[in-house]
Amino acid sequence: MQLIWFRQDLRLHDHTALWHATQAGPTIAVVFISPKQWQLHDDAPIKIDFYLRQLAQLQQQLQQLNIPLIIRHIGLWQEIAADLQNIAQQLKITALHANIECDYNERQRDAEVRQLLEQANIQVNYYHDRTLFPLGSIRNQSGQPYQVFGAFKKKCYEHLSLSLPRCYPTFEAQQALTAHPLWQTQLELQPFCPQGLSIQQIELWPIGEAQAFALLDTFIEAGLSHYAEDRDVPAMHGTSKIGAYLNIGILSIRQCLHALFRSQQGHFHIEGRGQQTWLDELLWREFYQHILFDHPRLSQHQPFQLKTARIQWRDAPEDLHAWQQGLTGIPIVDAGMRQLLATGWMHNRVRMICAMFLSKNLLLDWRLGEQWFMQHLIDGDLAANNGGWQWCASTGTDAVPYFRIFNPISQSQKFDPQGDYLRQWLPELAHLDAKHIHQPYAKKQEIELNYPLPIVDLKSSRLRAIEIFKAL
Ligand SMILES: Cc1cc2nc3c(=O)[nH]c(=O)nc-3n(C[C@H](O)[C@H](O)[C@H](O)COP(=O)(O)OP(=O)(O)OC[C@H]3O[C@@H](n4cnc5c(N)ncnc54)[C@H](O)[C@@H]3O)c2cc1C
Repeated sequence: MQLIWFRQDLRLHDHTALWHATQAGPTIAVVFISPKQWQLHDDAPIKIDFYLRQLAQLQQQLQQLNIPLIIRHIGLWQEIAADLQNIAQQLKITALHANIECDYNERQRDAEVRQLLEQANIQVNYYHDRTLFPLGSIRNQSGQPYQVFGAFKKKCYEHLSLSLPRCYPTFEAQQALTAHPLWQTQLELQPFCPQGLSIQQIELWPIGEAQAFALLDTFIEAGLSHYAEDRDVPAMHGTSKIGAYLNIGILSIRQCLHALFRSQQGHFHIEGRGQQTWLDELLWREFYQHILFDHPRLSQHQPFQLKTARIQWRDAPEDLHAWQQGLTGIPIVDAGMRQLLATGWMHNRVRMICAMFLSKNLLLDWRLGEQWFMQHLIDGDLAANNGGWQWCASTGTDAVPYFRIFNPISQSQKFDPQGDYLRQWLPELAHLDAKHIHQPYAKKQEIELNYPLPIVDLKSSRLRAIEIFKAL
């Protein structure tokens, strides 16, 4: 009997571990529900809700394939190894199958599971599935991991031009298995459904593989050709919004790649800037996963550039609170932070502006911002979030040079020239015209607005950050 362990890969199609399990023999599935562990990892309520809704659907789909799903409610991941051993003994499991994850805690958990199960003569098979290329396989000429995105990307292009990673085929339903008390549990969503989520927030993020494919297809058909230009305009729907689906594995990265190259009958051939730019974004995701795998200290709150650990970040809880709540008096920052609170998502350009404002202008520890994003993003992912934050804070690999600090007002004027995005998220400024909305107090501080004055002077705070980084 085979056991497939679902983790951040809640789908049936193009699932490496599931494919191998079902090809090896009759299969049973298992999943662990661990709210305490999720809390320790700062997973956002909206993401947990999304995960559980998807899991409920997956359970039904597995039933149609006669694959029973065992749902285990546990505290922390340390309990998993013994629990799996127990399950394996009760069900006479001969092999466990699961997809590899790149984060440190996940790898420790998986190593413990391997040790215990192999001692009990149960085969343990971990597969590369979450990335296009096996973690640890993209190396420079000296056999070292790449630290610069450009060179990493070039290597990936070389591999892709030889062949695109294949998707796994679909498989038939298996013979029904005799019922067992271990899989009698129907997933109870209610007790775990996080408090404080509005129905509107939930409706923004429908679950299901079919839904994810529809989103991907619509983007490839209608959005891809303009992606290079539209992706930086926060008032537009210029990006795919597939991140949430990729991160809990409703979609696979291979499926995205094949959707991208479908128009070339599956051959690697770049046609147009939109296609090129989107591929590069998928490769940024790949890059950060490989970086996290090769540098486990990044999972433990360490900066990539160790010298930046010496920075004395400001201790200013009121400024942090203003940033978190979208009350800094800098409209583009406040709009982004309010979009995040209202929807669980923030536009990439605005993520960069908000992160740089926190770490440079406010000189607050980037880890506070990283944690807040993780606690609120539906697409929260340690590798990409940590990578994004360390890029903006100039503490990361291939990060923005410390002296290139975005001016949030110029960014706002450039990427939201009419102020449409600002008006959407800052109703108190909606009556202002396109000239004044980016900087409502620019001329007259006495203007009457139900909106805070800027909490920091952009010019002097920029110079302060540059001095501090230069001194390193
Ligand atoms: C401070 C900061 C924090 C971030 N936190 C996260 C996070 O927790 N999870 C996350 O998935 N992305 C994160 N990103 C990257 C990026 O903002 C999101 O992936 C993107 O906005 C998601 O929207 P989309 O799905 O429409 O992306 P699209 O623009 O359509 O891109 C397609 C996919 O490519 C990947 N991608 C795109 N840009 C990046 C990038 N810069 N880095 C890594 N992968 C990328 C994502 O998987 C994305 O879904 C962060 C960026 C910054 C600057």
